[in-house]
Amino acid sequence: ANVARANAKNLGGNQYLFYQNHMNESVKEAIQLENDLRNALKNREIEVYYQPQVDAQTLKPCGSEALVRWHHPKMGLISPAVFVPLAETIGLINEIGDYVMRQAIMQTCEWYQQGYSLRIGINLSSRQFTHNDLMRTMQSILSETKLPSHLIDLEITESLAMNDANHTKHQLNGLKAMGVSISIDDFGTGYSSLAYLQSFPIDTIKIDRSFVMNLDSNAGRAIAKAIIAMGHALDLEVIAEGIENDEQVTQLRSKGCHVFQGFKFGKPMPADDFFKWLQSHQ
Ligand code: C2E
Ligand code: MG
Ligand code: MG
Ligand code: MG
Repeated sequence: ANVARANAKNLGGNQYLFYQNHMNESVKEAIQLENDLRNALKNREIEVYYQPQVDAQTLKPCGSEALVRWHHPKMGLISPAVFVPLAETIGLINEIGDYVMRQAIMQTCEWYQQGYSLRIGINLSSRQFTHNDLMRTMQSILSETKLPSHLIDLEITESLAMNDANHTKHQLNGLKAMGVSISIDDFGTGYSSLAYLQSFPIDTIKIDRSFVMNLDSNAGRAIAKAIIAMGHALDLEVIAEGIENDEQVTQLRSKGCHVFQGFKFGKPMPADDFFKWLQSHQ
């Protein structure tokens, strides 16, 4: 963008024209992408991938996180970091989110019936969480699938939780009453105070990947140690995400982290591949 701006300046009188053309292009692209996303579900372009989670002591599979993927017919795989915010803006996130939730729970139930008792982590976006039907949707999925509800873990972020604290408390209490567990995703990266850890019924904190990446420095190790110690003191389960090497495993294990997730164990993968991974890691 900086290069484009510098070029536009050099064009002098044509500067306005440049911006206008430039904008028209990106606006057109954005509108195209929006329309494509509106059709993505019915065109079966949305797929749930599963990333392994392992027990920190045994390194055996204990769960997975559902991570949504969009196979765009022309552009290939589009990251959820791009299309989830877009879906949120154009009001499609509830539809996509409900699909992911139902799909991930049904899949986990299938594995459960084949003898693998795994927990499934499901990311909730802000709108989906504020949506009043969330509890009813969860209730109906639970009665359809018969997966034990304690195997379902809903991931919310600090900023989402703090957006409307009263609503959050109400919503979380309702979900807890169904036996579902609640995680704070990307823990430590929000700007909120820690007080919410007392007032909300939270089971798990997921240490953000940025902290795991900094384990090679003294300060990084001190922060990870403090987060895990706080988790222990508050009786919370601690999951670390973004683990890529043995050194990080050793560090986090010695500090008492409970569950590991990261490319070291497996990347997010389609259900069939995940099942093969599962069978070869018993
Ligand atoms: P997240 O929930 O924090 O998910 C973890 C992200 O870290 C995933 O990226 C995963 O692929 C990546 N990751 C895990 N281990 C490693 C590692 O060892 N190294 C590296 N470099 N990356 C690792 P992904 O799948 O691209 O998802 C990005 C974000 O998009 C998620 O972050 C989540 O906030 C959002 N997202 C994904 N699926 C959904 C969904 O179904 N609903 C909603 N609302 N958001 C979703
Ligand atoms: Mg997550
Ligand atoms: Mg995260
Ligand atoms: Mg996240």
